Parts: sequence; C-alpha cells; structure tokens
Amino acid sequence: MKLKLAMIQKRVDLTSDQVAHLKTLVSGQVSTNESVLDQHGRDESAFPPVRPSAVVMASSTQEVSKVLAYCNEQKIPVVAFGAGTSLEGHVLPFFGGVSLDLTNMNAILEIRPDDLLVRVEAGVHRMALNERLSRDGLFFSVDPGADATLGGMASTGAAGTTTVRYGSMRENVLALTAVLADGTVIHTGRETRKLSAGYDLTRLIVGSEGTLAVITEVTLRTFGIPEKMAAAVVRFPTLAEGVAAASAIVRMGIAIARCEFLDAQCIKNVNLHDGLSLTEAPTLLFEFHGSPRGVEEDAQAVKEIVEEFGGSEFEWTSEEGARRKLWQARHNAYWANIAANPGKRAVSTDAAVPLSKLAEAVAVADKVLGGSPFPYSILGHVADGNFHCFVVTDPAKPEELTEVQKLTHEITAKIIAMGGTCTGEHGIGAGKIDDLVVETGQSAVNVMKSIKATLDPNGILNPGKIFR
Ligand SMILES: Cc1cc2nc3c(=O)[nH]c(=O)nc-3n(C[C@H](O)[C@H](O)[C@H](O)COP(=O)(O)OP(=O)(O)OC[C@H]3O[C@@H](n4cnc5c(N)ncnc54)[C@H](O)[C@@H]3O)c2cc1C
Repeated sequence: MKLKLAMIQKRVDLTSDQVAHLKTLVSGQVSTNESVLDQHGRDESAFPPVRPSAVVMASSTQEVSKVLAYCNEQKIPVVAFGAGTSLEGHVLPFFGGVSLDLTNMNAILEIRPDDLLVRVEAGVHRMALNERLSRDGLFFSVDPGADATLGGMASTGAAGTTTVRYGSMRENVLALTAVLADGTVIHTGRETRKLSAGYDLTRLIVGSEGTLAVITEVTLRTFGIPEKMAAAVVRFPTLAEGVAAASAIVRMGIAIARCEFLDAQCIKNVNLHDGLSLTEAPTLLFEFHGSPRGVEEDAQAVKEIVEEFGGSEFEWTSEEGARRKLWQARHNAYWANIAANPGKRAVSTDAAVPLSKLAEAVAVADKVLGGSPFPYSILGHVADGNFHCFVVTDPAKPEELTEVQKLTHEITAKIIAMGGTCTGEHGIGAGKIDDLVVETGQSAVNVMKSIKATLDPNGILNPGKIFR
C-alpha cells in the first residue's frame, strides 16, 4: 500500500495576526497567557510538559468547524483538550499550534429515559452527567478513575471498573457529531440499539485520540440504577491466587458488576490516602447489581469460588456509605500511589490479555519490576484481563523516566507475545507508538495511516500521536 501521510515536522508558533483571526471565530477566549498555556501543556502522564502556542475555547460545533477550517488552511496543528487526564502524552502539543479546549461545551442536551439514552456536548464531565442522570433513575456506566469529559473518553475509547458488566465507550457510544480537519461536520451512528448501515464511522472515531476528527456531541447508552448493589472484599495469600480466582469467576458466568484486583502495596497506599484499614494483602474487590435475592446469590457463589482459591476474610456489604467509600478508594488508587511518593510521577502500564493468560502476565510484570529499583504497585480490572503497573519516577531525573520506559516496554513486549495488547483502555498517545507496530504489524498500521491521510491530509490533528 502506497502512503502519502503529511507530517508536521517542526513547532508552529502562531503570529499575532493568526491569534487575532482566531479571536474572530469563537465567542470564548483565545489565550496566550502563560498559565493557561501551561494548563494545556500537560496531562497526567510522566511526559515532560510542552506548551501550545495558543489555547482556543470553542463553544459550539460551528465554532469548532470554523477554527479547524482556518487551521487547516494555515497548516496549524490542533490538539483537542478535554479534562487533560489521559496517561500517554495524548494532549501534549509537541508541535505547538492550538490547544482546542472543549470544556465550554458542557451542556447535557437531551435525556430520554424511555430510550435509555442521553445526548451531551463533548465537554460534559462524567460525574456531572451521572449526578444529573440519577434524578431520572439512570446512570452512565463508564467510569475511568478521573473525572474525564465524555469527548475525551470517546476519543480514548475509555473503560472503567464496570466494563465487565456494561461495556466500554466502544459499546456505549451510539452516535457522534464530529468535525473533520477541513471543518466538515459529520453525524455518525443513530439513536438505535442496532445499526448496520455502511462503514462504522462511530467506532472509527471512538479511540482515534483526536487524530481523525474533533467530537462535539456524543449520544450515549444509559442504564437504570439497579434495585440493589453490594460490595465485597476478599484477601489472598499471593497475587497469583487472587488473579486465578477472578478468572474463574468470570468463566463461571457469575453476573459481577465490578471485579478489581489490588496488590498489597496498593492497599497500603489506599489505606493511607483514604483513611481505610484494609488488610495489607493481595485483594479482590467486587460489586454486584440486581434484585436483593440475585445480589445475595451472586455474592454467595463468589464467596464459594474465592475460598477454593485460598481467599479468606470474605466480607460483603450493601450499606450505601461503606460501598461508596470502598469504590471511591479504588478510584483514588492512582492518586494514593502518587501521594505515597511525594513529588514523583507515575508511569502506568495498561496491558490486557486473554483471561487464561492473566495470572502469567501479572507474574511477568511483577518479576520484571521486582528486579528494578523503582517503587511500583499492581492493580487492575482483572475480570477484563486488563491490569496496570504504576511505576514511580522522579520528574527531576529524566534518565529515570527513560529507564522506567525500558522496563514497561519489556513487559509490554512479553505480553504482546502472549497474545495480549499494549493497551486495554488508555490508548497509544505518544507512549506506545512502537508497541502498536509490534502488536498489529506494519501493514495494519499502514491502513490506519491511509485513513488518517484521507481524513486529515495536512496532518494537523494531534500530530505525533498513534504514529510518527
Ligand atoms: C487517576 C486516573 C485514573 C484513570 N483511570 C482510567 C480508567 O480506569 N480507564 C481509562 O480508560 N482511563 C483512565 N484514565 C485515563 C483518562 O482518564 C482517560 O483516558 C480519559 O478518557 C481522558 O479523558 P479527558 O477528558 O481527560 O481527555 P484528554 O486527556 O483531555 O484527551 C485525551 C485524548 O482525547 C483527545 N480529545 C479530547 N477531547 C476530544 C474531543 N472532544 N474530540 C476529539 N478528541 C478529543 C485529546 O486530543 C487526547 O488525544 C485515568 C486517568 C487518571 C489520571
């Protein structure tokens, strides 16, 4: 396949005329203020920050369209910016240009309880959405550990603790409004549960990390809040036994809504951060959703299985405060890890493997990191075969980041060789470009590049991400 992929090669700093012109295109701010540039020049990864040349706040699909048409004509790079919580350098404007902030687009446009769907602007945050949906007895299920925007979550194909039951963004985005690099507005998908009309452009844009289009509206599936929810905690003597128990539970088809694994170090960090007193041992956390009787039966079935795998101290509760506190602590695990290492940053791996390989994959990661000098902890959405190693590095010592990246690439290569993927949910960004080639092969990456070349011929959308 012949490829002609335009690549922006050097940094673009906007002229004062270009900044002045952008100001005529949007009703919100166009800023070159240093602190605003700094806020948009970093994400939650350990990558060093890079400032954009200007930050443009868009307030509507039409404004996004005008900004992209102008930047395309002027060959100015554009990086869409949601909450900036991504973990692979996704929002870093390596080539300067515009950081296009969508957070002014924060309207919940339509809630349709009878159709179990909601339509939102891209800048709506997931927690605000759930607060509003709860008034209608509904919830949106995808829950990454950060309060991300729905546009950012769609763009990274995000998942979370409930994916085992309700799916990730890939299953829950029904339709999109998106703007192509030249300013063309497209609508993809329908508000239907099924759809078989032509190429699936919705799922092409979901997970494209702002490299193919800027999403301005998202239509999402919602679910009814379950009648009963209960959480359970169980400890294991070793990491391997906990992971094997989780795989067995999934294989048995028990209807778990959440199943998360935390190693002893992670539990220690979470205890300190969230004022808990969980036993510092490899731990599985569960959640069950359903009728009161169904929840009790599921919890009992899980108790019996985990005990066969050496699990002990099985405790479960349906008391709302205790359940929320436990899951809040799980969601805070990343911050707890950072707080335990003041002034440091973390590199988070994101491998996923077929369930049968999960125990082996976690053991490989533990062995590689155990032989290194860097503090780390392991946790994961084990029922999805997806786990994270948080490896701590000192931002004042860039050579440490290089060392840690070598270790994480070593783990990733081993996991790909087992039939796994380098990323279950965080995406490629700038950090996994080489891993993507190893995983899918150059021919498949060339197909991706040809799609990029068709939709963004000047290569202005988020250059330097997914491929070089
Ligand atoms: C503590 C913590 C826990 C996390 N846990 C999880 C987890 O469990 N699961 C998970 O999947 N992720 C997790 N993440 C990563 C992060 O929250 C997700 O990647 C999230 O989807 C990013 O959303 P955002 O709004 O912050 O996007 P940003 O970081 O702002 O952007 C992410 C990418 O999407 C692009 N983008 C943003 N908005 C748009 C748009 N409207 N149109 C087109 N492109 C756009 C950006 O250019 C960038 O490439 C976690 C992060 C942290 C800090």
